[in-house]
Amino acid sequence: MRLKDKVALITGGSGGIGRETALLFAKEGAKIVVTDVNDEGGQATADEINAAGGEAFFIHSDVSKASDCEAAVAFTEEKFGKLNVIFNNAGIMHSDDDNAVTTEEAVWDLTMNINAKGVFLGCKYGIPALKRAGGGSIINTASFVAILGAATPQVAYTASKGAVLALTRELAIIHARENIRVNALCPGPLRTELLMKFLDTEEKKQRRLVHIPMGRFGEAKEMAYAALFLASDEASFVTGTDFLVDGGITSAYVTPV
Ligand code: NAD
Repeated sequence: MRLKDKVALITGGSGGIGRETALLFAKEGAKIVVTDVNDEGGQATADEINAAGGEAFFIHSDVSKASDCEAAVAFTEEKFGKLNVIFNNAGIMHSDDDNAVTTEEAVWDLTMNINAKGVFLGCKYGIPALKRAGGGSIINTASFVAILGAATPQVAYTASKGAVLALTRELAIIHARENIRVNALCPGPLRTELLMKFLDTEEKKQRRLVHIPMGRFGEAKEMAYAALFLASDEASFVTGTDFLVDGGITSAYVTPV
């Protein structure tokens, strides 16, 4: 029960990392509010937690909309009386996101609005609630692509994740003496919907797998365990970090055969 008596708000909780994290946090004793734009999936996550004896609610919230983010925080405090952990996890990878020449401005704007502004808004409305609770932990989902370049480009996505890292670092410093920790989770390539819908051939998969020392994609659950550590009091001296959970990809020059 590493999150006993804590209340966590998790964005993008209908699938992938968000869903696995909501289920794990609940098992570890946290009360959960799940948000998403996918109402069916988000409600299913909350239902699964409640069916297992936990306590969870779903609220529709688009992280790129200030009023939705503000409402999600207010909803959490109304239902559970406080907020201790914020997991700003929702994100997209647009199918028309490519290099600088071919990527449309609208694709850039949409990606930045969800992936970067969405994290900013989660912090903007979440931090006052953490202060009211006496402190807490914020985990912002970035990516290994904020640290490594790739010849298979998604420039809007990459730039948005770089913004998440920089924002996270600065907020960590600003709030370091207020008992608020702010960390970025940097997943490697994962076997979730977000990436697998692009890697729809064996050739595309192999183009990536050759660079991953472990020779496989990561699992959403492996990110949930990392988020659990960052959320828990075990990470009480961890703030401002780019927490890489990437199968070794960012450490590799040549990978094993
Ligand atoms: P996913 O697509 O399974 O989950 C993302 C969730 O965010 C979905 O439930 C989706 O409905 C929700 N979402 C999308 N737009 C939203 C919005 N405007 N408001 C609220 N919710 C919204 O993907 P995932 O792999 O679980 O991704 C979670 C996070 O991890 C993302 O930020 C992603 O960029 C990041 N990430 C993923 C990988 C990977 O390889 N899958 C690698 C590094 C980082």
